[in-house]
Amino acid sequence: MRVVTRLQSALALPFTLEDKSVLLSISAGIALYPENGSCAAELMDNADVAQEQAKLSGQNHYTFYSSDLNKTATDRLALEEDLRYALEAKEFELYYQPKMDIRNQTAVGVEALLRWNSPARGFVSPMEFIPLCEQMGIIKPLGEWVLESACQQAKAWHSEMPELKVSVNVSSLQLDKDFIDTVKAVIAKSGLDPKCLDLEITEGIFLENKCMVSELFSELRSMGITISIDDFGTGYSSLSYLRDLPIDTLKIDRSFLMNIEEDDTSKAIVNSIITLANGLHLNTVAEGVEDVALLNFLIQGGCREVQGYLFSPPLPPEALSQWVLDVEAWRCHFSFT
Ligand code: C2E
Ligand code: CA
Ligand code: CA
Repeated sequence: MRVVTRLQSALALPFTLEDKSVLLSISAGIALYPENGSCAAELMDNADVAQEQAKLSGQNHYTFYSSDLNKTATDRLALEEDLRYALEAKEFELYYQPKMDIRNQTAVGVEALLRWNSPARGFVSPMEFIPLCEQMGIIKPLGEWVLESACQQAKAWHSEMPELKVSVNVSSLQLDKDFIDTVKAVIAKSGLDPKCLDLEITEGIFLENKCMVSELFSELRSMGITISIDDFGTGYSSLSYLRDLPIDTLKIDRSFLMNIEEDDTSKAIVNSIITLANGLHLNTVAEGVEDVALLNFLIQGGCREVQGYLFSPPLPPEALSQWVLDVEAWRCHFSFT
């Protein structure tokens, strides 16, 4: 542990490589002699297994080898195999969750959320399979499929629900030099007005080259697409990017909104995020709104949009449009009687 900590602190500061600032993190696996192997080859293999686990725990972690990890590694391999097949076999689908304008409580948009219904495993959570797709290098084709399907769906909805926006989650690994071309092609193919497309990107992107990200966002916004920062406040970023990068919306992470009644610190954080966003003329979306008390707190704080089980869970496309139309019908009925 002491050696790993020393390596981590030695590499904690960024260094310069061909005029670029580079930041490294260490993921270490530790195998002990003689408990975890009697020869160098076996110790190295087991340290490798532990290192894979360390990587899954996030950046800058270390993990000690244990025999359970071998089982985890085998399970993971099987999952990877199923995932590779799932993309070809079209086992993925998109669900949609409404985003409500907090003032008049109408649906202004929907967030597309990926679902994997595996014949062998049942529904698998995206929290489980998306990080794996990122590591396996299949997030790009999968992300493209998500973008294309969501844009097509939004376009199809526009005859009944004009102006409905669709938000698509984009992994920072998708944001390379081909991304703009991909988006342009998808927009052209679907015929969706780019003003109705919003991209949700987590703060992790700000660890990348700032100039590149700034250029990319500017180009997307010049097409009319909006950019939301997802899980705002949970990443490693500094506030300076809010000044330097062109964005439209901050999405307040559910972790700040859970049990907010009993938690004055979370209350203060949420109110500060809303004040910050309003001051910067950015939109705010609160996610994971499950009860009326939280909704009222957010209304008082000046939050603009809300999303959560209080209104609707993510739904398959047919159910979602029915939901939106029912809510509209109910509202009309209510205002006429
Ligand atoms: P996220 O973008 O923060 O999405 C919000 C998650 O909260 C969704 O989980 C949603 O179903 C859930 N949720 C919404 N309202 C409530 C609520 O009131 N209470 C509670 N407890 N949960 C609520 P989901 O669908 O399981 O997605 C998890 C994460 O997987 C997403 O977090 C996102 O990071 C990722 N993800 C989902 N679809 C995609 C995708 O197409 N591409 C990428 N790159 N990531 C995706
Ligand atoms: Ca999201
Ligand atoms: Ca979140």
